[in-house]
Amino acid sequence: MSNPIQLKSETLMQAMVLEVGQARLRETSVPRPVAGIGQVLARVCACAVCRTDLHVLDGELPHPKLPLIPGHEIVGQVVETGPGAERFKPGNKVGVPWLGWTCGECRYCRSGRENLCEKARFTGYTLDGGYAEYLVADERFCFPIPDIYSDAHAAPLLCAGLIGYRCLAKAGDAGRLGLYGFGAAAHIVIQIARHQGRKIFAFTRPGDSNAQQFARSLGAVWAGDSNAPPPEPLDAAIIFAPIGDLVPQALKAVARGGTVVCGGIHMSDIPSFPYDILWQERTVCSVANLTRRDGEEFMALAAHIPLQTTIQTFPLSEANEALTCLRTGKLQGAAVLLMR
Ligand SMILES: [Zn+2]
Ligand SMILES: [Zn+2]
Repeated sequence: MSNPIQLKSETLMQAMVLEVGQARLRETSVPRPVAGIGQVLARVCACAVCRTDLHVLDGELPHPKLPLIPGHEIVGQVVETGPGAERFKPGNKVGVPWLGWTCGECRYCRSGRENLCEKARFTGYTLDGGYAEYLVADERFCFPIPDIYSDAHAAPLLCAGLIGYRCLAKAGDAGRLGLYGFGAAAHIVIQIARHQGRKIFAFTRPGDSNAQQFARSLGAVWAGDSNAPPPEPLDAAIIFAPIGDLVPQALKAVARGGTVVCGGIHMSDIPSFPYDILWQERTVCSVANLTRRDGEEFMALAAHIPLQTTIQTFPLSEANEALTCLRTGKLQGAAVLLMR
């Protein structure tokens, strides 16, 4: 009975649910969860759609909670607080991100690397998420939302923005930065990177002139096909697209000492490549999850710059359509589910 959604409740809510053996979400009524110790019950105002949701649906990530309510880029309004939860009051807006719980005791948690906690629980993957009218969340892992953002425009900050920010930090002080895959994360990261005075090169699906135009409109100095070389060598590249073939492509594009950061939770296999393109102290690394500190830093930056998110909204009941648009590359920016 550790999962509150299984508790007996009189009140039902609408949710889009992933069931065992299914790849489409089912619209259904489920009991409204009850805030447990240290948790808040929030009414979901908006929930952005992330590529990770597709990986969960496609069975590419091990051991999801099933049945599952996906969604981990959530803006909600606190309705009730559970025993001992004192950080937020009913009526407060909260952001609920991917990192939902950590043990606080392991070597990773104790060394400022809670993103790597082996017992971590994740919203919309091993905990129920925001494709529903309500959710419960551990208040310690929620973020206040800068009040300059509407609910829908804030939602993509919670993962696309946050993970993008962590990727950017891994890229170090690279002045010439490549972004492979110009979707929800890249369209936010480019604004931070530009604010920091970096030069951005955007790589998209070959022939995707809309995405290339979108990248240029946000300040990319160059935008082109992912299989094309950039006009000058890069100091770092971040790969947001889940395509392993891009790793050797990006390695070829970075200069000596350059870094290639893989920002996704899942990627197709990386083909073998000649050592020559890694030689000269080039680095390949991945970024996993987020820490609460990342969230605090990023939200402060988001309020300061401020970031403009480009969104396409869908009603909750059209979550499957939103996911299909993401899969087929038909979105500009981020898809966001809006509750009524
Ligand atoms: Zn995500
Ligand atoms: Zn831990």
